[in-house]
Amino acid sequence: MLTRTLRSPLLRARLPPSHAVRAISTTPPRLQVQEITRPAIDTPLSLWNFTEEENMLRETVRRFAEDVIGPKVLKMDEEEKMDPEVIQGLFDNGLMGIETSADMGGSECSFTSAIIAVEELARVDPSVAVLCDVHNTLVNTVLRLYGSKEIQEKWLPDLATKKVGSFCLSEPASGSDAFALQTTAKLDKSGDFYTLNGSKMWISNSAEADTFLVFANVDPSKGYKGITCFVMSKDMGVEIAKKEKKLGIKASSTCLLNFDDVKIPKENIVGEIGKGYKIAIEILNEGRIGIAAQMIGLAQGAFDKSLTYAYQRKQFGKPVGEFQGMGFQFADVATEIEAARLLTYNAARLKEEGRPFTKEAAMAKYFASVIAQKAAGNAIEWTGGQGFTREVGLEKYWRDSKIGAIYEGTSNIQLETIAKFLRKQYQT
Ligand SMILES: Cc1cc2nc3c(=O)[nH]c(=O)nc-3n(C[C@H](O)[C@H](O)[C@H](O)COP(=O)(O)OP(=O)(O)OC[C@H]3O[C@@H](n4cnc5c(N)ncnc54)[C@H](O)[C@@H]3O)c2cc1C
Repeated sequence: MLTRTLRSPLLRARLPPSHAVRAISTTPPRLQVQEITRPAIDTPLSLWNFTEEENMLRETVRRFAEDVIGPKVLKMDEEEKMDPEVIQGLFDNGLMGIETSADMGGSECSFTSAIIAVEELARVDPSVAVLCDVHNTLVNTVLRLYGSKEIQEKWLPDLATKKVGSFCLSEPASGSDAFALQTTAKLDKSGDFYTLNGSKMWISNSAEADTFLVFANVDPSKGYKGITCFVMSKDMGVEIAKKEKKLGIKASSTCLLNFDDVKIPKENIVGEIGKGYKIAIEILNEGRIGIAAQMIGLAQGAFDKSLTYAYQRKQFGKPVGEFQGMGFQFADVATEIEAARLLTYNAARLKEEGRPFTKEAAMAKYFASVIAQKAAGNAIEWTGGQGFTREVGLEKYWRDSKIGAIYEGTSNIQLETIAKFLRKQYQT
């Protein structure tokens, strides 16, 4: 594995070191990769262990995020629009097909690589991170795991190289209760097409997307067992009815979509008819690890920025970061970020090992979203009046942090999942 040829253009690229100049530097300490010594007896490795490929990916995504995305963050947030150059950069660097096989144009990296990429992007801009996360961990993964060979060959290469994807499950009347969805797909008399009618709400990436995974019910009389997953392109009739204005992650588009008598060939069904609910459950279980990664990246980004400032800003004749009252708060948040990170990496490795990970993914997402809000909120206070101003970018981390407790299952839904496992374990 360590000597594997690096397929991804991302991993081959060597970008110049960061040269961005900001009011408060975001440049985190350099990554250190140390040689590992093992004890004589066989023991498992710690969670801070990555393949050479994963380490290189982290370093390269960090440079891409710092050098290319960093200077655009404020403008994208103000304009509530993703810069097309950022999306192109994600494609050019192999970040839009991280787990997709090389013969389909992807980077053929591990799931943990996707998690690392989302974490590093979120450190600089959580909006870019969610675009990459939804595209990879939801859209690409559904097609990779459930799509027929024909579907994979038709859709995955474009998704890895030039077309953005959206995952359309939620509707105006079905959020947490996703399987109460009302969009229908009715088989026409010829048996060749389904006719799609309904609306999807809060759909990430949809303003930029060309490829849409849409969940619709082919037989409402069967309840959730009629839910089926379809893949379609925008020109088949996806109507963007409204782009939402939001509190945070403003550069990430979130739209209301309408489907009005849209014809979809039956070949576009992903997986089995009536098994869409299973696809949605399974994919969101692993997608939650991606949101946890977004939240730990966000927390670290806010932490890095505010501490750099706190050790420069002098009051009472010394840097404010040197006061014990500040240092203890830094230590508290650093510990919690590390705990959230370990939960996230552990859930990712469990998934890779093919072991159960649903409870651990829910814990990671729940805890990481709590910590992201705490770290970003404290970072504003640690930087005083500077932190409260827009230009510095810390208030943006705080606004962005709220979404972690909402999408891909609210915090209550994560707690419900964890509690369900506890009931199973302890109830006799
Ligand atoms: C910015 C953004 C991007 C999004 N992107 C996508 C996307 O790309 N694709 C997609 O399909 N969806 C997307 N969503 C939708 C998102 O997944 C839902 O908003 C989320 O699942 C919550 O649903 P809801 O908003 O309807 O809240 P509701 O389900 O109405 O919940 C309201 C409150 O009730 C609580 N609640 C609900 N049920 C229970 C329960 N059983 N027990 C305890 N408490 C409960 C919730 O925790 C919450 O506090 C996005 C949403 C946002 C805001």
